[in-house]
Amino acid sequence: MSNESIKTIHEFDLNLICEFFLNTERQGPGNSEVTLKALSFIDNLTDDSLIADIGCGTGGQTMVLAEHTPGYITCFDIFPAFIDRLNENATKLNLQDKVKGIVRSMDNLPFQNDALDLIWCEGAIYNIGFERGLTEWRKFLKTGGYIAVTESSWLTEKRPSEIEQYCLPHFPEMDTIAGKIMRIQKAGYLPVATFVLPSVCWTDHYFTPMVNSQKMFLEKYAGNKTAEEFVALQNFDAEMYSKYKEFYGYVFFIAKKLNND
Ligand code: SAH
Repeated sequence: MSNESIKTIHEFDLNLICEFFLNTERQGPGNSEVTLKALSFIDNLTDDSLIADIGCGTGGQTMVLAEHTPGYITCFDIFPAFIDRLNENATKLNLQDKVKGIVRSMDNLPFQNDALDLIWCEGAIYNIGFERGLTEWRKFLKTGGYIAVTESSWLTEKRPSEIEQYCLPHFPEMDTIAGKIMRIQKAGYLPVATFVLPSVCWTDHYFTPMVNSQKMFLEKYAGNKTAEEFVALQNFDAEMYSKYKEFYGYVFFIAKKLNND
């Protein structure tokens, strides 16, 4: 066997995860109503606008944006199969002249300073870190440009310890909405709007469509421990959400870059 064909467990896991999520419309909690609600706070877009959709997945939110905004959207994800699917979907919807998916990491974006009118990032900024993403991406925005991100947040000041212990290893920057807004302000933006994603974004648009994918997946990978553990973890995730949804959720944060300091 050549070295090239040997996969590490880590790579194997990522490929499995990618294959699983290729069969779902969204790869994180969200839906088109919520994307449009966030978009309603953004008032600077024209046909010449440049938009980046970061951690785009297969582009569930990208297609909604493309159908409702002027401008050109460049999308980034590290999984080539997600980007291929996004580009295929764009072509199917006749959006190929407005949307382009590129395989690239969010910590190495190919923009000049002051290039973008809007940065969009649903369910993905935690991969670089909330503060780091806000800070590093800011230079790519024009003055007056917007950033719109969703991020896991605490909805209450105090939480049961079971849910804190479950969330914090996954999301070490998890904070209250007020705490997140303070980070946005400190990173040099004007906080413009904030709203909690309704629970249907998790149930009807995330966990429920997964059930079908899980069935297909477990049939294909019957007896595969990694696949079984992955599905068990998702089920636990759904259980935790159902039990503790009053204490945490995804929150949309929309903010504006006011100056170039
Ligand atoms: N925005 C999509 C996907 C969210 S899931 C939706 O809401 O449906 C998070 C996405 O971030 C995944 O597609 C994952 O592949 C991507 N991702 C993870 N690390 C990344 C990185 N370093 N750079 C770019 N994308 C990344």
